Amino acid sequence: MLAPISLVSSSRMPDLKELEIGHDAQYLAEFAACTARSQALALAGEDPFISDFGKEADVTPGTLDAARLAVGAAYDMIDVLLQSPSGDTAFGLVWPPGHHAERDLAMGFCYLSNIALAALYARDHQVQLNPGRRNRVVVIDIDHHRGNGTADVLASQADTLLIDVSYRSPYDDSRERFTDGLYDAVQDRYRGGAKEYPYSRPDKELELDAHPMIVAPNVLSVELEGEQSPEAILERFLEEVFPRVRDFSPDLILWSVGLDSAMGDPIGGLGNLPSSFYTMIRGFRIAFPDARHGGLLEGGYDELRWFTCLPPALLAFHERPEDSVNRCKAFRKYREAFASKV
Ligand SMILES: [Zn+2]
Repeated sequence: MLAPISLVSSSRMPDLKELEIGHDAQYLAEFAACTARSQALALAGEDPFISDFGKEADVTPGTLDAARLAVGAAYDMIDVLLQSPSGDTAFGLVWPPGHHAERDLAMGFCYLSNIALAALYARDHQVQLNPGRRNRVVVIDIDHHRGNGTADVLASQADTLLIDVSYRSPYDDSRERFTDGLYDAVQDRYRGGAKEYPYSRPDKELELDAHPMIVAPNVLSVELEGEQSPEAILERFLEEVFPRVRDFSPDLILWSVGLDSAMGDPIGGLGNLPSSFYTMIRGFRIAFPDARHGGLLEGGYDELRWFTCLPPALLAFHERPEDSVNRCKAFRKYREAFASKV
């Protein structure tokens, strides 16, 4: 028996001022100017694609509005959660994703840092779940790739905690290169790309600079070197993620649901099964019944993984607490482990 899913269509579009809680005003102005330039090109009948804004973050006439709509939906999700009873959930099916967007840099298809903005919006919200103090918000990022933008925006922000679980490339120190790409001996270069993004170390063979990674007391990076078994990922959750969240005592738990961490994803593939998404989210709902639980769609670009992994993730949010928790083998195994840690 499932709880009815309330579909909420959001058309909320925050103005640039409302985005300054997480982004620099100058960056936002440049983003608006770049979009206006693209619109002018389109009106003139020219190619509107602008590729010199940020890193791997092309701008077209609708990019700014689409990114603002994604943040607006995230803000609406927080409003819903804060006005709901404890234990309630919500999910924002938003696009573009946001976890690579830093305070002043668009990157990797991300322009505005959706979940970090949502976390700050929730923290400072006038609805205080514990009157007299700000809301405490944890973000758990389970995208294959590192949530460098979320880390950049949330670093050292009081009453917030980011836990980023992501893939780290195996690295050959003797040759100073990543070892997870497919090396094409004929072309004498890597094909398919290494899977770590953004790279935390330089690679001389690929001629890549390292992207600086934020280190802050409220950011925990759980790095998984190479592809992992689903069991190994869940173990790291139990041993490292869970205790940190418990000690933080969150009022809200927000998930960056990146489906590219699913096994076999062509640009990710950390090793999660469809049931892994269910198990992680549902486990935290059992362990933290008094918190509100929200999620935003993050990366993931492969249709097969969408169809197989998004439904179990949504199920984990929308099942009522009293519904069966024996849905899958992986969860049966970990249910007691999560419950025992409460
Ligand atoms: Zn990703």
